[in-house]
Amino acid sequence: MANKKEVGAPASPKGKSASATTKASHSGQGMFDAVLSRLDMAFSKLNPSYNFQQIIKNPQKQVVVSLPVMMDNGKIEVFQGYRIIHSTALGPSKGGIRYAMDVDMDEVKALSAWMTFKCAIANIPYGGAKGGIQCDPKKLSLGELERLTRAYTAAMSDVFGVDKDIPAPDMGTSKREMAWIVDTYSKIHGIDAPGVVTGKPLTLGGSKGREAATGRGVMISCLEAMKKIGMNHKTATCAVQGFGNVGSSAARLLNAKGIKILAIGDHTANFYNAKGIDIEAALKYVKENGGVLKGFHGGESITGEQLLLADVDVLVPAAVQNVITAHIAENMKAKLVVEGANGPTVAEADPILFERKITVVPDILANGGGVTVSYFEWVQNKYGHYWSEDEVNSKHDANMANAFEKVWYNSQKFKTNLRTGAYVTALEKLEKAVEYRGNF
Ligand code: GLU
Repeated sequence: MANKKEVGAPASPKGKSASATTKASHSGQGMFDAVLSRLDMAFSKLNPSYNFQQIIKNPQKQVVVSLPVMMDNGKIEVFQGYRIIHSTALGPSKGGIRYAMDVDMDEVKALSAWMTFKCAIANIPYGGAKGGIQCDPKKLSLGELERLTRAYTAAMSDVFGVDKDIPAPDMGTSKREMAWIVDTYSKIHGIDAPGVVTGKPLTLGGSKGREAATGRGVMISCLEAMKKIGMNHKTATCAVQGFGNVGSSAARLLNAKGIKILAIGDHTANFYNAKGIDIEAALKYVKENGGVLKGFHGGESITGEQLLLADVDVLVPAAVQNVITAHIAENMKAKLVVEGANGPTVAEADPILFERKITVVPDILANGGGVTVSYFEWVQNKYGHYWSEDEVNSKHDANMANAFEKVWYNSQKFKTNLRTGAYVTALEKLEKAVEYRGNF
């Protein structure tokens, strides 16, 4: 059995203080602090009630579990697992599960809040949550990964629920882990509950279009932004950082719209090709070479920083958080940034980018395509009736375009950047919901 700690107030693992476990951006700011900075900016525009500000700044529930897992060498190793429910004001909480070494309370807290805002902007009836396990999934065998995932699900079996809290894939997890979660949860509760998790394999009730959905949302929000700022997608060039699920789908879909991808990269290698990278060749290479770009020959090798500063029209950061620092913001050549990753831009880079008239489509808008199709998957599970890929994609595209329009409208109305426009869009809706619900 896993040890569980469930608290209403901020918790920290292994008795460390919250600050000791906080990962800082280059400016020394923790990830949840970065959320609070952005909230303060939006509060200054919107002026919401004091009561609402207090509520939205504090996650509703934070769960930490110790997960003893039998390793292949016959020894038990104990992993830390987290699930943070930031808000259920707009519906059951929704958000992915991340497997990475840097997963901690601060990171999961920030990611859970972003899910609340993302779902509100996408106008889907969910609150926000996030989960994670501190581990290096690449160092675990298939059996160890399965035992770890099942231990986490068992420990969270009273947290998750079809109408309560619905996980999905995030960094380091995929449909394979979602299949283990739905199986473990269904067996513990003795019911068939496909809707308890989204991003499942199609045969277990997954949705067509879900795997490429986050990248598709990046593509739609990029095209919408281009229309607004007068950039022609038939002649535009782009650099994509990250070539996992989000980055590779975004690169493929943007390329299919005529945008030339001059640079791609992942944590193993970065490449530049002035004639345009052959994305199909890169996808094939990654598939045949352990999921990474290292060794690809479709361009000259460059550094990660050179990719971020490449002479392109559009930059899509679709890897990890805190990569667009003040230094990158000061030197960036791109005129449009579309955030496929969660939290790729540090808070102090925002005013620099705004000053330099670089349009940034923020994560809580740009990468909302994934959770939008997660919602469609959940609806299909509830009805037991499944949609065609075209149906999913056209509903998704219309939803993303609507969300973009609302955020654009608010950024104009409040004379601010799209990020604050996005926060304002989410907060307006959340404040009403919190007010109607009242306090209990
Ligand atoms: N992990 C994804 C995100 O950050 C998807 C979440 C979901 O589908 O619930 O948006």
